[in-house]
Amino acid sequence: MKPIIKTTNLTKFYQEAPGKHLLALENIDLSITEGEFFVIVGPSGSGKSTILRALSGLDTDFEGQVYTLPSINPSDLGFVFQQFALLPWLTVYENIELGLIGRNIPEAERKEVVRRELEQFGLQKFSESFPHELSGGMRQRVGIARAMATDPKILFLDEPFSELDYFSAETLRRELLEIWHKRKLTIIMVSHIIQEALELSDRIAVLSGRPGHVLKIINNTLPRPRNLRSPEFYKLEDKIYSLLKPT
Ligand code: ADP
Repeated sequence: MKPIIKTTNLTKFYQEAPGKHLLALENIDLSITEGEFFVIVGPSGSGKSTILRALSGLDTDFEGQVYTLPSINPSDLGFVFQQFALLPWLTVYENIELGLIGRNIPEAERKEVVRRELEQFGLQKFSESFPHELSGGMRQRVGIARAMATDPKILFLDEPFSELDYFSAETLRRELLEIWHKRKLTIIMVSHIIQEALELSDRIAVLSGRPGHVLKIINNTLPRPRNLRSPEFYKLEDKIYSLLKPT
């Protein structure tokens, strides 16, 4: 199957100071299939967010290639960030609507879409609330609803649940899986939580510490829904931990 997005020899230097460069990523080859739930894990500083930015076109200053299927436009990409990135002076309704503004969508249709997302994410009662009135979990639910309002073909998530308490994170992970299943999109997510990666993914790219390179691509064929306490789950978890063990 043709990849929806892939990288070849993706290498990234950051300029730390004039004349001083930091090698963040080295020869990253990733190939992501349409409809796949792909997770990138690795220690802090291994370049996970850098890969996401290159894949999504937020950063174009790198060496190597990023190839995206020609049928994918920038408007087909959705983003969810760790810090929610909601505008505090807008209501939940307006935050979700934000992604649709500037896309030439008539107001009546915008209303319809926002209503759909409010319902999908159980946010109807909060449509007139402001972000500061919501819990972290609810705020990230708005963050995901806003991304989904534009019907993305590829959804990028950068550590979306790291700021949340255990129970909110667990609920949102389940909701994300439901949405992925129902709306048949490709998901590329960054995480530093191995259990989370195994719970969600079809495949996992395990990155080394800086400069990040791919240590291994793990095929996660555990039956869904994932049983986090099965021996097979523990076995894969151990396999990833041993890859990441400092030597
Ligand atoms: P991760 O997401 O795995 O924590 P990042 O992709 O954020 O890693 O960063 C990889 C490395 O590049 C880190 O060492 C980080 O400090 C460095 N880095 C990230 N962004 C910049 C930047 N804008 N300027 C300089 N160094 C950066």
